[in-house]
Amino acid sequence: MSIASYLSEDIGSSVEFSTFRASFRKKLRKVFNKRADFDQVSTQRGLPPFMMREIQSLTPLSVFIPEEYGGRGGHVHECQAILATASYESLALSLTLGINGALFLQPLSKYGHEEIKAPIFERFVQDKNMGGLMITEPDYGTDALNMKTSYTQEDDHYHVQGTKHWAGLTGWADFWLITARRQGKNGDLGRDIDFFVADMNRPEQMVEVEEFYENLGLYMIPYGRNHVDIRVPETHRLQPESTGIKMMLDTLHRSRIEFPGMGMGFLKRLLDEALAHCKERSVGGQALINYDQVQRRIADIQAAFTACSAMCLHTSEHADPSNNLAGEALSANAVKTVVTDLMQDAAQSLLQLTGGMGYRLDHVAGRSVVDSRPFQIFEGSNDVLYQQISESVLKSMRTTKERNLLSFLEDHELTHRAADYFSDTLDFEVDQSLSQRKLVDLGRVLGRVVTMELVIELGDRGFRSDLISNCLQAFQEKVDGLLASYRRERTPSVIDDYVEGSAWLDYVNA
Ligand SMILES: Cc1cc2nc3c(=O)[nH]c(=O)nc-3n(C[C@H](O)[C@H](O)[C@H](O)COP(=O)(O)OP(=O)(O)OC[C@H]3O[C@@H](n4cnc5c(N)ncnc54)[C@H](O)[C@@H]3O)c2cc1C
Repeated sequence: MSIASYLSEDIGSSVEFSTFRASFRKKLRKVFNKRADFDQVSTQRGLPPFMMREIQSLTPLSVFIPEEYGGRGGHVHECQAILATASYESLALSLTLGINGALFLQPLSKYGHEEIKAPIFERFVQDKNMGGLMITEPDYGTDALNMKTSYTQEDDHYHVQGTKHWAGLTGWADFWLITARRQGKNGDLGRDIDFFVADMNRPEQMVEVEEFYENLGLYMIPYGRNHVDIRVPETHRLQPESTGIKMMLDTLHRSRIEFPGMGMGFLKRLLDEALAHCKERSVGGQALINYDQVQRRIADIQAAFTACSAMCLHTSEHADPSNNLAGEALSANAVKTVVTDLMQDAAQSLLQLTGGMGYRLDHVAGRSVVDSRPFQIFEGSNDVLYQQISESVLKSMRTTKERNLLSFLEDHELTHRAADYFSDTLDFEVDQSLSQRKLVDLGRVLGRVVTMELVIELGDRGFRSDLISNCLQAFQEKVDGLLASYRRERTPSVIDDYVEGSAWLDYVNA
């Protein structure tokens, strides 16, 4: 009997989801809270094997696996709920599950060769294997389409070569999806991107870790640089429906739109911690929660909780793998950018409210600040995604020959009701040749208007109306502020050669 099955309470994958989730939550509470050495765990890299074994004993990744392969069927609301349950206890654990789910299991389910699916899924269900995705290279991150990792076909296999870095679960995952471009006979690389499954149990498919990185947060997850020089069978290449780039977009958009699952438990935890701390802590003779500015911070965290709930609802009903999301840039990018900004802002607010006590790696506030920060960078840097949100809206406006932003948003299904909140401020003609910084400002506005639409929908379904109206108010205030910045005409430039005449000490009257 393996250690995993010995530890397993084996609730199986066929039980009701509510029972499954309750057992998972109970297990996490036990693993993360009752272990006396938890504080040590949060400040040390990696995760003690016994902890992962206990967590994996309930096979949480089964939510991402189709029923015919022993999983729970890949229902998106179940995936979101399991990510949320995990992130209440640990954002890094939730990201670990998210990497396995959105970056390995979902693309494999959708695009994998039939022959390889059954044995791989079996290893996830039975042996608790894990998988990740390698796209980024040292010289090609944001510019991923120009990656240099290449492949050639040799007899019945592919030879893949290159260098990849920053892939979550480096040195830990049993399987990798590795992206590469086809190398022609003349040495030139094709424009399309292909995905290859590599099995770390096979010597000829193993990637070699050259260096582990000292990542700033997310200590549980190893990162580093990998040397790729592997040979995989033909069946290990994913089968795109059209181009590989569309397959990559479908995969990345699905992953981005699933971020709220990871945000949900995290934001609920920050809200619970903020409320508990501010009721308990007395400053100047009264509880912190009685101060107006403190209430403002907590109300903002609560608005983030509500907005993220609305996103989880939307994602659950729109991100099924049977839908191709390659063309859904607006919703996927809006959800990813806004939820990751909300996560970071909420963490910064909790740290402010907890004061010196929070500025520790083993305190939930300090840890949350460093753990949530890279969500604004990976899977599309937010600065770049905000620009893309604006560009996609401007393109649709050109196509529909609409020049007024409000009129356009009133007709768009992702914004039509939220637009009513801005009938004065968004009623203007948009310049089609905006500078990049203005595109980013406008993208921030649009992302939040889309989010408000999802919040209005959540309210219609019966979610608490006081939370909905507070959230809409907070977002309206934020959007008005962002619009002021968008409208500002003068924009400071970078002065490259700034040193001469810029030493303050020279100007002191002493
Ligand atoms: C914690 C963490 C986990 C990660 N997990 C994975 C993973 O599992 N798999 C994987 O393949 N990769 C992963 N990555 C890599 C991540 O996707 C890249 O770091 C990201 O795409 C940015 O690429 P880069 O680091 O090369 O930065 P660069 O491409 O150099 O960009 C740096 C910054 O420059 C600015 N910038 C870049 N381009 C533009 C532009 N066109 N206009 C304006 N500003 C611009 C942005 O501010 C951007 O954030 C992870 C990274 C981190 C930090």
